Amino acid sequence: MRIVEPWIMVEKIDGKKIMKKIERACRTCYRSEGKISEDSYKTLLTNCITRGHESVLEHEKVTVRIYSDIGSYKDLTRHRHASFSVESTRYCSYDKDKFGNEISFINPVYIEDKEVYKTWENTMKEIEIGYKKMKELGATTDMCREILPHSTAAEYTMTANIREWKHILALRTTKHVHPSIRQVLIPLLKYFKEEMPEIFGDIEYDEEFNPNYYAKLIIDKEA
Ligand SMILES: Cc1cc2nc3c(=O)[nH]c(=O)nc-3n(C[C@H](O)[C@H](O)[C@H](O)COP(=O)(O)OP(=O)(O)OC[C@H]3O[C@@H](n4cnc5c(N)ncnc54)[C@H](O)[C@@H]3O)c2cc1C
Repeated sequence: MRIVEPWIMVEKIDGKKIMKKIERACRTCYRSEGKISEDSYKTLLTNCITRGHESVLEHEKVTVRIYSDIGSYKDLTRHRHASFSVESTRYCSYDKDKFGNEISFINPVYIEDKEVYKTWENTMKEIEIGYKKMKELGATTDMCREILPHSTAAEYTMTANIREWKHILALRTTKHVHPSIRQVLIPLLKYFKEEMPEIFGDIEYDEEFNPNYYAKLIIDKEA
């Protein structure tokens, strides 16, 4: 078995370009395209958000690829306006060469108590032994997945428009949210805050969450 760290890959975005495109769409409402200047998007977007005129944020989208645990996508796929492609535990057989013949589990780094962590680790080992044994006995991947725990590592691609990202990031970066989600989404929120301060600047997140737990944020320059 492998114990792995999570990461989040986000397409390289030009926040100013996104906001200017939203401004152009929004100005259709007032036929005020003539007022567009280098920085006019700032006041326009701030006013729209303050007044709840948020549908304009739906004109632009961002895609991310996340490597985290099954538990995190179980929660995030509840967001109905986002789109997902999720690694299938029905089709991915973790005893195959392509997975190194082993199951990967996301390191629950936030479990700091040594005894609790050791118990988790031993349980994961037992699960992998059981998975391989079931395969040897002729079980299908469908059958084997019955024993996979929330900690199982999986990749998923997630796309949402800016309005939905604002909603998701406001909901899913607070101290009430499971650490495996805060791990990946706080770094994403911080990136969005830098790129699009007029849209994401006011979102509060759990600032007490240990930055050592943050997942690595990878900027995908190819996307
Ligand atoms: C801290 C936390 C704990 C949670 N605990 C649980 C739990 O114990 N059990 C559980 O089942 N879920 C739980 N959830 C999930 C939660 O109830 C939502 O299902 C999930 O967060 C999706 O959010 P959403 O419905 O706001 O939005 P989305 O699906 O992202 O939709 C965005 C917005 O669109 C609007 N919208 C979407 N669909 C409809 C609709 N059909 N009718 C009207 N308006 C709509 C709403 O305004 C909604 O806020 C939890 C979420 C959080 C953040």
